[in-house]
Amino acid sequence: MFDKILIANRGEIALRVLRACKELGISTVAVHSTADADAMHVRLADESVCIGPPPSKDSYLNIPALLAACEITGADAVHPGYGFLSENARFAEILADHNLHFIGPKAEHIRLMGDKIEAKKTAKKLGIPVVPGSDGGVGPDDDAMAIAQEIGFPVLVKAAAGGGGRGMKVARTADDLAMAISTAGNEAKAAFGDASVYLEKYLQKPRHIEIQVLGDGRGGAIHLGERDCSLQRRHQKVWEESPSPVITPEARARIGGICARAMQDMKYLGVGTIEFLYEDGEFYFIEMNTRIQVEHPVTEMITGIDLVLEQIRIAAGGDLPVTQDDIVLNGHAIECRINAENPVTFRPSPGKISRYHPPGGLGVRIDSAVFQGYTIPPYYDSLVGKLIVQGKTRGECLMRLRRALDEMVVDGIETTLPLFRALVREPAIIDGDYHIHWLEQYLAGTSA
Ligand code: ADP
Repeated sequence: MFDKILIANRGEIALRVLRACKELGISTVAVHSTADADAMHVRLADESVCIGPPPSKDSYLNIPALLAACEITGADAVHPGYGFLSENARFAEILADHNLHFIGPKAEHIRLMGDKIEAKKTAKKLGIPVVPGSDGGVGPDDDAMAIAQEIGFPVLVKAAAGGGGRGMKVARTADDLAMAISTAGNEAKAAFGDASVYLEKYLQKPRHIEIQVLGDGRGGAIHLGERDCSLQRRHQKVWEESPSPVITPEARARIGGICARAMQDMKYLGVGTIEFLYEDGEFYFIEMNTRIQVEHPVTEMITGIDLVLEQIRIAAGGDLPVTQDDIVLNGHAIECRINAENPVTFRPSPGKISRYHPPGGLGVRIDSAVFQGYTIPPYYDSLVGKLIVQGKTRGECLMRLRRALDEMVVDGIETTLPLFRALVREPAIIDGDYHIHWLEQYLAGTSA
């Protein structure tokens, strides 16, 4: 096992990793920018190192500063959390060159899945069903039109290097195609330094269903069921739940089995998420994330498996904690991502939290790094915290969530709490009858 882990992240996920380390008896090193000097992850870690000024590129993405922090503190492993360097294959390789463990998959797998065109080809080869589309990248001069005609409009132009919904454009008709390809390409070039794009059939009312996997890197792998992340705004997840209200035990076993076998074939190491769109009973692979995800707690709540702790154990050479047959899904869990944003305009609202009261009680969990008097800095994401609620049934879970949302107080800044208080009382949400465009239609006042 590792002796000392450096957590190359901030906010709630840094705290989440810290908690797993404490339970495993591993010493922790927090790193922070000058803007985060009094952050909770810094206060709770055994040691801390300032790695630079507020902008992420000068601090949380600053590889030389992180290496120096490992050297100074004698850390033997690095946990990247999510975002920042978590899907940077080069970072994993650099750490290995310095005899440091990267707590994550093999660099080759991070690289493979980071290129969405390659990821799709690999998924197809491994027997995972994919969204119909171009087999590779397309350019404005290529026969993109012929491919689009074959797939059928509307088509979605997506960036090979995409992430966070950027570099994605819908072409509703043939007239829109050239423009969509150039806009998506330019956006991708600006955001990721890579303009390559590909085409996919644009599904009209799918759900976003993702499968959590866990592999030991030696050919052992299991799945931990699905998460339904269909409630999104601008391709960003807002609310996640497990199990999905629409996935039957048979469908779960089928798609979960396909994913677990694919991970066995790859000899995948650690935690991962295989993302699908789901429409009319069919699953279509869109991408794989090779890291812990924001919404991992809903899976933890219903499986009882601590994913971050197991991720660390497995990175240190440990075995899978359970066999597939041992996994029992216990009730239902829902996560709300509460952001420091205006609940109507979604304009970020950083600033000082004057009053803070997190809800409690049976089945209620808060993953957050804020506290009363804390000032949310303007430089990073606007997550205040994740409220995760579990119940024996989806109905009980919703009842508890309603109560927990009403109990929660975050004053001094604007938050999206009022949006969740409204959502949890919406008939379509109560019925579990929603798809990936539902939330935007609801916000625009056009939901059916
Ligand atoms: P990113 O890596 O940018 O998050 P994804 O490929 O994971 O991109 O897609 C993000 C979201 O975009 C999906 O959850 C879904 O809402 C939407 N999306 C992606 N592909 C399609 C598609 N083929 N048809 C319709 N919507 C899609």
